[in-house]
Amino acid sequence: MYDLEAIRERVSLRDLAEEAGAVFKGSGASPSSRCPLHAGSDNPTAFHLYDNGRRWHCFTKCADGENDGDLYLFVQRWKQVDFKTAVAFCAERAGVALTPGPSPDSGRGGKEKKAPPPEPVPSGPNELWRQRAEEFVSYAQKELAGDGAREARQYLMAERGLFEAEWDAFRLGWNGRDWFDAPGKWGLEGGNKIWLPRGVVIPGVRRRSIWYVKVRRPCSEGDGLAQYVGFQGGQIPAKFGGPREGVATLFGADLFLGLPVLLLVEGEFDAMITWRFGRDLVDVGSLGSSNTKPDALDKLLLMGYAAIVQVSDDDEAGEKAREFWQGQARVTTIKPPDHDLTDYWRKGGDLRGWVARLAAQELERLLVGLVSPAFREKRREWEMQLAFCRGEVGSTTTTRRAVPGQVGWMLGSSSGPIPQPLP
Ligand SMILES: [Zn+2]
Repeated sequence: MYDLEAIRERVSLRDLAEEAGAVFKGSGASPSSRCPLHAGSDNPTAFHLYDNGRRWHCFTKCADGENDGDLYLFVQRWKQVDFKTAVAFCAERAGVALTPGPSPDSGRGGKEKKAPPPEPVPSGPNELWRQRAEEFVSYAQKELAGDGAREARQYLMAERGLFEAEWDAFRLGWNGRDWFDAPGKWGLEGGNKIWLPRGVVIPGVRRRSIWYVKVRRPCSEGDGLAQYVGFQGGQIPAKFGGPREGVATLFGADLFLGLPVLLLVEGEFDAMITWRFGRDLVDVGSLGSSNTKPDALDKLLLMGYAAIVQVSDDDEAGEKAREFWQGQARVTTIKPPDHDLTDYWRKGGDLRGWVARLAAQELERLLVGLVSPAFREKRREWEMQLAFCRGEVGSTTTTRRAVPGQVGWMLGSSSGPIPQPLP
């Protein structure tokens, strides 16, 4: 059980209503606005707040039984979600990972069936962990720019198709030697030292805070990265390492622009190269591996997309991931044009063209269903984007504005021009 009252205290119904499109007149006991919940709202006083702004009522077109309620009912109607999701949304807004409170049912001794508890809002690694991760990632970023990382930079450019704009946007780094850090520095008690392996450093960032750190290691003589930076021995052949107790989060989410289509790819490298070639066509994210599932915060972000295309590697693990995603709302699952998207690019594939066709397909499909006049503006937005994906209009129009809270906590992408495929 969440403490529903505690969340209600912290989240303003008025703020949410405004975010949904309400424009209030007056700040008295019962401010009114056009109704943000029903289509074609033109009466400027249809929607009222009452009970000290804790409840709302629509006096005009919202149907009986759906025209009155509290914070959670408002979110349910606004976001078209169930109660559980509405609570998770508000809990997230309250800015705290809420701990379970006492259940109001306890002690009653009844035989009522209890609803399963809402999914917890994840809180990420501890504060010290994040600070130490920040220090390590900042260090590695500086190293990547330095004299000692020429080969690592060549690897990123030649094998991964990633250049300075991507290094900056995703905070990539280079760690030149194995480090063994005291667990206490990461807020962890006891256990083995924290191993920070030599390799390419990739942080998983959520709202500018580091939740996990992956290091792509030169793991054997024949390894692709080792061809560039050399293999220095070592017992563990794993390709990826990094400090333990990191928490998975949707990679790339801080760079989302709120485009209509989200492309979910399997790994960070695929996400970064797709972002390079197609970030004005689709938003691009990755859960970092084929078997990671989205957490409650990721799901809230996914809710903002009209269409999600999940593409995972053409192998057994990828097949399992496809099975999971096929059961999710608004998700289409597809196979990549090669083993993975980086391979496709490496072999000369037109990655931008592939993303553009995919986005156009999804937008065409979405537009078929979008006939209600209530969605005229949405329709126009999607038609514009479709024309852009088809190459019918130029790319200079895509300076999008981040809408805090609506899609996520996006920072606008600020890197250089997106490379166009060679003719
Ligand atoms: Zn209404």
